[in-house]
Amino acid sequence: MLKQISAVILFASATLAANAQQNNEAKITALINKMTLEEKVGQMAQITVDVIGGGRPFKLNAEKLKEAIVTYKLGSVLNTSDNRALTATAWNEVVTQIQNEAKNTSNKIPVIYGLDDIHGVTYLAGATFFPQEIGQGATFNRQLVHNGGVITGYESRAAGIPWSFSPVLDLGVNPLWPRLWETYGEDPYLVGELGKAFVTGVQGNLGKENAAVSLKHFLAYSDPKSGKDRTNAWIPEHYLREYHFPAFREAVKAGARTVMVNSAMINGVPTHINKYLLTDVLKKEFGFTGFVVSDWSDIENIAKRDHIAKDNKEAVMLAINAGIDMSMIPYNYKAFCSDLIALVKEGKVSQSRIDDAVRRILRVKFELDLFNNPVTYLKDYPKFGNADFEKAAYNTAAESITLLKNTNNILPLSKNAKILVTGPNANSMRTLNGGWSYSWQGEKTEEFAQQYNTILEAMQKEFGASNISFEQGVAYKMNKKYFEDSVVNMDAVTNAAANADYVLLCLGENSYTEKPGDLNDLNLSDNQLMLANAVIKTGKKIILVLNEGRPRIISKIEPGMAAIVHTYLPGNFGGDALADILSGDVNPSGKLPITYPRYVNALTNYIHKPSDATANPQGAYDYSADFNPQYQFGYGFSYTNFNYSNLQVNKNSFKSNETITVSVDVKNTGTRSGKETVLVYVSDLIASLAPDVKRLRGFDKIELAPGETKKVSFTIPVKQLAFINLNNKQQLEAGDFKITIGNLSSTITLTDSINW
Ligand code: BGC
Repeated sequence: MLKQISAVILFASATLAANAQQNNEAKITALINKMTLEEKVGQMAQITVDVIGGGRPFKLNAEKLKEAIVTYKLGSVLNTSDNRALTATAWNEVVTQIQNEAKNTSNKIPVIYGLDDIHGVTYLAGATFFPQEIGQGATFNRQLVHNGGVITGYESRAAGIPWSFSPVLDLGVNPLWPRLWETYGEDPYLVGELGKAFVTGVQGNLGKENAAVSLKHFLAYSDPKSGKDRTNAWIPEHYLREYHFPAFREAVKAGARTVMVNSAMINGVPTHINKYLLTDVLKKEFGFTGFVVSDWSDIENIAKRDHIAKDNKEAVMLAINAGIDMSMIPYNYKAFCSDLIALVKEGKVSQSRIDDAVRRILRVKFELDLFNNPVTYLKDYPKFGNADFEKAAYNTAAESITLLKNTNNILPLSKNAKILVTGPNANSMRTLNGGWSYSWQGEKTEEFAQQYNTILEAMQKEFGASNISFEQGVAYKMNKKYFEDSVVNMDAVTNAAANADYVLLCLGENSYTEKPGDLNDLNLSDNQLMLANAVIKTGKKIILVLNEGRPRIISKIEPGMAAIVHTYLPGNFGGDALADILSGDVNPSGKLPITYPRYVNALTNYIHKPSDATANPQGAYDYSADFNPQYQFGYGFSYTNFNYSNLQVNKNSFKSNETITVSVDVKNTGTRSGKETVLVYVSDLIASLAPDVKRLRGFDKIELAPGETKKVSFTIPVKQLAFINLNNKQQLEAGDFKITIGNLSSTITLTDSINW
């Protein structure tokens, strides 16, 4: 009965949603019929707020505002001013003034304001800051990521902002890329699952506590051949489809309302003019009904940077015809508007392309109910920045931190231990948060995040100030490039170590993102390596804390470390979470969402071909290849032990239209409770295109009390085991597949082959 009632409720709400949708479409058609070409083009234009205001405190300039919104009828504004966070009240005022101005236009179409919410609402003072996405990936916990999305959507609306430029669904496959930490990790399935969890969290039912997301950055932005930001990727279509499509497709299916485009290019084609990807794939094949926004300046870049268009006008033509619906211009909006209007008049951009773009933009504005509620106000969001939200961010940080080495169970430490805390990352809120924190590069974090604890402060609280000493050893140059650091006083560190039981060596990176974060050498900086070696010489037991956005190479100092803990960029509560893990109040449960390389020239991901790891010593010519990461994808210890047994597959032989059910028993054999991520890999043993050695096809995170056993089950549709063939079609070939969970495996046989 209960089932029947909920089926009726589901049906009724689906019908209501369908009716609302039809209603919106009718309203949009009526509106489009009334709009002039100038108004339509204005809807497609987005400017940065610095164009219409400035100063500190920030003030909108009445004339400039009027010119942009009333004369040019612009439909969207983004970003903060002066590259610094504002309070929710200040945001409320800014958005109110802009929306009031929009009411002076003939059709009174509200503006849609968008902000980057990279780990919380980036430019909102007092917002809850979660670990950056790479840390969220390490939690392997869909629920935590979903909650983070709910909170981010809520806080965004508290500021009056209905549009969030997140999540990043790029694959974190290139350790050099300066935005690796903005991804959920290197695995397409993991990224897709966490992406969906976040999207549904932020968007909810697009009510007053929700915001529209923007999936970024479509497509394959994260894997440039050079490793440098905004450079060319060389990726054939079947690999784009195999690895880069799935997460975006899943998030579109989950209802994502906007998509932002890869700022760079694939195979020499700037993604902003790639009609195949933007229109044929995203809009038609994936069925995306929201709108596509360019990245910053990227239409202009087609002319200015990429030397593809001879001028701005040609660039606008190529991009709009390819399927861009809104241009993040962000400054020279007059040129964009006049060029696009001229292109339509000359017949070079069709009226129907313009109407399609405008329909998509208006659709999202209607769905967000901006016509009735153009601004939301802090007073209606009493939970903004409250203790529950902070606890959620803390929990995510605590589940992200990953224990990579723990010789002789040196961790957890006794609360009476005497600990020297050292290193450039030891006493910095900036490094805990990384880029996109209160400012673009994160350099203003100390100013905004004083109330939170650095690693040092959290250690003093957890272990008692008298047990903790501090010598920095190496310091970042805070007003210089992110990679510059200098020696402070090495002798002070080694002298202080003499009086300590342990040294907590906090190394890594300073904050950065995008182009300023480009890197030439994946090794840790010379000064940090020098500090590590000086501490190793003292003979003290060292706990290395990594606080970095990219896996900087540590192989030369790793043997000298008794324990290694990776914090990624854990956010404002990262110091507290780390101290609780070091003391044993919290049992670590993070697992690496990327492969941690051992050498700068060996950057192979866990998804690789058999030829990347062969032992083939035949005769005199041994050309074996080693896959030699420092730590594998999925690596990470707990303070307890988990035993896997009883791997069961529902049968041995399958047809392509069937579903595999696989289960395993996991037992906590230790003495403290702990969380374990159970990972299921499947290997296609023989395929006509070299198969990947293994692929993640399922994961689940469970909690077990000491001595407790849980059965964990997964269902895997056989079709998910297909690969993309050279004709860019899915291909499933009869043969054997090995399923692996932990140290157990079982082989099944597929009896038919299909292609679709
Ligand atoms: C970044 C995007 C971001 C946008 C707006 C661009 O430079 O690539 O990720 O959303 O700026 O701030």
